[in-house]
Amino acid sequence: MPEARETVLEIDFKALKHNFEYLKSELLNNTRFLAVVKAFGYGSDSCEIANYLQKLGTDYFAVAYINEGVALRKAGIIKPILVLHPQAVNLKTLIAYSLEPSLYNAKILKEFITIASAEKQNNYPIHIKFNTGLNRLGFRENEIDYITSEVEKTDAIKIVSIFSHLAASEDLNEKEFTLNQIANFNTISKNLIDKLTYQPLLHMCNTSGILNYPEAHFDMVRAGIGLYGFGNSEKENKNLIPIATLKTVISQIHNIEKGESVGYNRAFKSNSFLKTATLPIGHADGIGRQYGNGKGFVTIRGQQAPIVGNVCMDMIMVNVSNVDCKEGDEVIIFGKDITAEQLADTTNTIPYELITSVSQRVKRIFLK
Ligand SMILES: *Cc1c(COP(=O)(O)O)cnc(C)c1O
Repeated sequence: MPEARETVLEIDFKALKHNFEYLKSELLNNTRFLAVVKAFGYGSDSCEIANYLQKLGTDYFAVAYINEGVALRKAGIIKPILVLHPQAVNLKTLIAYSLEPSLYNAKILKEFITIASAEKQNNYPIHIKFNTGLNRLGFRENEIDYITSEVEKTDAIKIVSIFSHLAASEDLNEKEFTLNQIANFNTISKNLIDKLTYQPLLHMCNTSGILNYPEAHFDMVRAGIGLYGFGNSEKENKNLIPIATLKTVISQIHNIEKGESVGYNRAFKSNSFLKTATLPIGHADGIGRQYGNGKGFVTIRGQQAPIVGNVCMDMIMVNVSNVDCKEGDEVIIFGKDITAEQLADTTNTIPYELITSVSQRVKRIFLK
């Protein structure tokens, strides 16, 4: 791995392949694999990630919003792309780029049928989402008759999948709730399919669902965080490899005398001599202010250096009093040894938030 000379996010494709193969090994051979690459591929780079996963044999992709799907098409993704949360204002664009909408209530279903009909579509693939307990998006069981009546009235659309989303697949204390969601989904999908003349795909599992509920794999699974190297449990983290390493360098070292302060608003005041290093990464790069004032830390030559004072927009200062280091040395923010999960833990958040926060001004480097 090259030494960092500026702030970079290094993406390891070997690790990505390992994670893909590990998740696949948990599935039956004929279970389809949908890769979730929303939010710039969880902060990595959705187009690079999706192109590689397409080569590895991913069956489907999913993004949250239509513009994310457009970017994938422009980057050469030809596999089907499910848009999990399409907005009515962009539905014509969705059709223009052959993206497949998740339709989750009467309003968006109607709006989509109107636009697909106006665009002279025939059997345009759509996905019907049911709410089985997350209470976020989705039709309820009592809307099945409504859905089938709307779908029967038109040739413009065809239901290619029926799906739902688990609320607590990573929390085994909520196993009873999850099993109930799975049972509800079984009933709902059966009732809907009974009214159709064809058989859509069924899917329900995110990463932790894949790992914890094999009985809910159905025809396809939707893997996100696992691909990027996190399994939402100590046991599963061991089977996965974080693909992203956030690195930077030391710009300047300061000797701070007793009584001096460091950073904005003098949030840190020293009561003894210390040495700080200033790093070119701040809250505009994805290290939020909550990591400041000793909560978060970085790693330099294998040693931890806590953040001193407030996080600035473009910089942080870290305490290197006990670290043998010099200006220009490489600094690891998170990666394979100190993971994004460990750093996220220091502020009671989750790796999902930290890795998707790495802003677009941080250069991505791909190790292929
Ligand atoms: C984000 C998302 C996923 C992926 O979840 P992970 O926990 O990252 O695997 C799957 N399905 C839906 C509906 C999502 O919104």
